[in-house]
Amino acid sequence: MIAPIVIVGNGAAAVHACMALRESGYGGQIRLYSDHAEPPYNPMLTSYYVAGRIGRAECFPFGGRELYDTLGVRARPAVTVARVDALARIVETADGPPVAYSQCLIATGASPVIPPVAGLSGPTVFTLRTMDDADRLRAAVEGGARRALVLGASMVGLKAAEMLRERGLGVVLADVAPQVLPLAADAAAARFVQARMVEAGVHLRLGTGLAGVELLTPSEGTAGGGAAPRPGAPTPPLRARFTSGGSVEVDLIVVATGVRPNLEAVDRGQVDCDIGVIVDQHLQASVPGLFAAGDVAQAPSLVSGRPEIVGLWANACLQGRTAGRNMAAAAAGDGRRCRAAGSGPAPGHATAACAAAARSVGVVGPTRSGETETASPLLPEAYPGSLACNITHAFGMTFASVGGPTGRSLVTDCDAAAGVVRHAAGRAACRLKDGGGSAPGEATGTQIPMTSAAATLRVPQLAWAGFCEGLTDNPDLREGA
Ligand SMILES: Cc1cc2nc3c(=O)[nH]c(=O)nc-3n(C[C@H](O)[C@H](O)[C@H](O)COP(=O)(O)OP(=O)(O)OC[C@H]3O[C@@H](n4cnc5c(N)ncnc54)[C@H](O)[C@@H]3O)c2cc1C
Repeated sequence: MIAPIVIVGNGAAAVHACMALRESGYGGQIRLYSDHAEPPYNPMLTSYYVAGRIGRAECFPFGGRELYDTLGVRARPAVTVARVDALARIVETADGPPVAYSQCLIATGASPVIPPVAGLSGPTVFTLRTMDDADRLRAAVEGGARRALVLGASMVGLKAAEMLRERGLGVVLADVAPQVLPLAADAAAARFVQARMVEAGVHLRLGTGLAGVELLTPSEGTAGGGAAPRPGAPTPPLRARFTSGGSVEVDLIVVATGVRPNLEAVDRGQVDCDIGVIVDQHLQASVPGLFAAGDVAQAPSLVSGRPEIVGLWANACLQGRTAGRNMAAAAAGDGRRCRAAGSGPAPGHATAACAAAARSVGVVGPTRSGETETASPLLPEAYPGSLACNITHAFGMTFASVGGPTGRSLVTDCDAAAGVVRHAAGRAACRLKDGGGSAPGEATGTQIPMTSAAATLRVPQLAWAGFCEGLTDNPDLREGA
């Protein structure tokens, strides 16, 4: 009997791999391991759930547990894969016998990193990624927390700050960087965003690290640091001290200082890894039969050509789908693998964005109908998920980006009077547009005049204007889609 295809993980990449396997005609066994018991959820919706903008059920874009029955996938909830022996093609779990596989996808995602600061732990310190994180934070917010410190001025930090302000908390946001969005915006763009945040009542402490956190006794607590407590607020239980001097007293701390790929199950002695699992443009790892997709995979970037992690929802979907197609092709003994470019509609906004300009990045590989799409003459090195594109909202602004969150974006033009920040340059390009009170699900940006970023991207066909059109017109761009 042929061993099953094993999927390790239960997020967007895992689900899309399962769907692609079935759509591509793979009729064999699929086993999926998840280290939690929930159906697959969308981590990027957790801040909206904590804010009370959406209900818990809306965080599960693929529905409930019936998903895997429908796909004919044998799911093992709450079973952590401890080790993948990629040479023997075996997965090992904490309980139960080892399971042999024919092919395996690592789709384990990433987890928040908590910096090693004295006292930065315990029940009033939170991260934002899992449903468990979100449930705990929502309970704390609804349980009377009045003041919060958000650590990290990344997009996740900004969303956390926005969500806490919406809930009426006093919020201090701190970062060692001298500006918000240090990896994505230049100083001019950051100033624009910072002004909006201050208007919304966020107290910024930039250019300072956290020196330590102390639990306060009930007799302590003097309201320091800018976020004034409401009358009658409970005594803040924490004092956070900054490296630059000064401190704030808060009820809770949200840590948004980045994520690290979940590589615990991967044997670095067998499989090439850097920050994540190194894969080629087919999403295949260095050992035959092993694939990786999503936040755990370090795949060639369309823009830089280097292996990069693209920590975005649509890329996780596209990469999972690409890996699924390739595993199906390998199972069928079909050498035609999914790499690049087709003309058909494909899921996700990376595809949509490129399609607007070049109609080229899509899904290829054998399908159930036997159709095989060919590589694009325009973007031969592209594969679904190879281009980072994102659109999101915070503090009434729409943030759109293309190129890669790990790459620096440079701003060439900032027209605050027109409510527009124009970014265009470098190996990444980014755009911020005043969206005017947008809500999740609304892509409110309109096309803006741009200097051409295309010339600075490695792919000249990726016209910036076309990108913007695709970005704003495409329903796939909607958050949570
Ligand atoms: C607050 C927040 C805001 C975000 N905003 C945006 C945004 O605006 N736009 C955007 O595109 N993206 C955004 N993202 C990122 C996006 O959510 C991720 O890129 C995407 O969900 C990654 O999907 P994945 O399938 O790779 O990983 P995950 O969703 O992390 O799934 C991995 C799964 O594997 C399981 N697992 C891990 N290890 C094991 C193991 N050993 N055994 C079994 N199971 C295991 C995990 O429990 C998890 O279920 C945001 C994320 C957060 C947290």
